[in-house]
Amino acid sequence: MNPDASGPRVNGRVSFWMDSLGRTTPTRRSLTGEHRVDVAIVGGGLTGLWTAYYLAKADPSLRIAVLEKEMCGYGASGRNGGWLTAAMAGSPERYARSRGRDAVVALADAMKASVDEVIAVAQAEGIDADLVKGGELTVACSPAQDERLRAEHAYAQSWGDHDHQLLDATQLSERIRVADAVSALWTPHCARLHPAKLVTGLADVVEALGVEIYEETEVVAIEPRRAVLRDGRVDATWVVRATEGFTPRLPGLRRTWLPMNSAMVVTEPLSDAVWDAIGWDGYETVGDMAHAYMYAQRTADGRIAIGGRGVPYRYGSRTDHDGATQQATIDSLRAILAQRFPQAAGARLDHAWAGVLGVPRDWCATVTLDRTTGLAAAGGYTGHGVTTTNLAGRTLRDLVLGETTALTALPWVGHRTRKWEPEPLRWLGVQAMYAAYRAADRREDTRGGRTSWIARVADVVSGR
Ligand SMILES: Cc1cc2nc3c(=O)[nH]c(=O)nc-3n(C[C@H](O)[C@H](O)[C@H](O)COP(=O)(O)OP(=O)(O)OC[C@H]3O[C@@H](n4cnc5c(N)ncnc54)[C@H](O)[C@@H]3O)c2cc1C
Repeated sequence: MNPDASGPRVNGRVSFWMDSLGRTTPTRRSLTGEHRVDVAIVGGGLTGLWTAYYLAKADPSLRIAVLEKEMCGYGASGRNGGWLTAAMAGSPERYARSRGRDAVVALADAMKASVDEVIAVAQAEGIDADLVKGGELTVACSPAQDERLRAEHAYAQSWGDHDHQLLDATQLSERIRVADAVSALWTPHCARLHPAKLVTGLADVVEALGVEIYEETEVVAIEPRRAVLRDGRVDATWVVRATEGFTPRLPGLRRTWLPMNSAMVVTEPLSDAVWDAIGWDGYETVGDMAHAYMYAQRTADGRIAIGGRGVPYRYGSRTDHDGATQQATIDSLRAILAQRFPQAAGARLDHAWAGVLGVPRDWCATVTLDRTTGLAAAGGYTGHGVTTTNLAGRTLRDLVLGETTALTALPWVGHRTRKWEPEPLRWLGVQAMYAAYRAADRREDTRGGRTSWIARVADVVSGR
């Protein structure tokens, strides 16, 4: 090993995942002039591509175009932690308020089924995305985290989910050694994957089905039955907005979803001795119960990829430049790596990057379609989009085809939320929220005891 405190070797270049496939620049043609299709999809991430995939499969006669500003996988879909998780992108209570408890249970079941659907499609279509369904481990590393973990377990059970298993420190250490862990929760409904292999593989499959994909093609405005390009326009019966964390850049949508940053680092491949010390032979995804939580995976080539919030939000809903992240964020992720996995503390960091995810004001994802304007959208997955995009794609298929199905009855379909506050309130609010979460984590780490009141207040104020 070669510890290098000044690292990482690469910062940005979209992500380690895209870089590892050599996909750092667009390869497909762009579109100018006037064009007509049945379905225009704005955004070549997983939402856009799954929608194109299921529509093309359902009705091969449809003319479908994906319009992507940069290249497929440029957004969060090519940068994420690779957790194909069944975790719901929204609050069960909030969905239940409008649609009732049974609809929420149906959504939870649909999320679990979506994990298996992605795995099945990847297998059927020959997409090798390093998928391993080892489940999801959430680790508690302090008494306060343990308290929250047990509450989460009870909460899952109250919604009829009896698949979560509580593990004590000894049972956890048989799977993985995480420093200071006192307990953990395991659920089977999660798979580890290589994000760029999934999204670029899916783009290739979609293209082979006859969908037109245009890269370096920016949509500058979305209007009823029309996507306006920088130099042209696409008229369509349906226009699907699949731009998630980039949505605030579009006219009229500045306060719709907040582009929340998440950042990651990846180590060099670790030695067998380090892996013997850590364990992690089941390739579970691993996260903790900190308020500013971390998420990690063991990659197929023997690295730890670990992520967290970093600088949470840029003033005016700005986004990063090609995934480059701040040194302070890298330092804090390095510290979390060393804290949770001291066996890997000396490992070199090979790559750091960041991306944006879309956060609605009430933290609940949505799928919508308006038959009058022909406008559809899905997103606001609040960091749980890898699986949810698949469910969104199948739901948008049914909505576009005008079919009433079990998917179109799910409670997130047509879910509405209010807009975010204008600046500078938006910026101040998010900074304050994450300052509070970090203070609460520090307080819990140093003083022990129960969940800090600071975090409880931050939860209420942020609407989480
Ligand atoms: C660092 C990080 C880690 C994450 N980890 C996980 C995880 O482990 N598990 C999980 O479930 N979720 C995770 N998420 C969230 C998840 O990745 C996203 O929710 C999901 O990928 C969103 O997919 P999408 O297709 O809706 O959006 P994106 O993948 O962001 O795609 C949107 C696309 O739209 C394009 N675009 C934007 N504006 C325009 C325009 N005007 N014209 C044309 N094209 C445009 C962009 O270039 C981009 O390619 C993570 C997110 C980040 C940033």
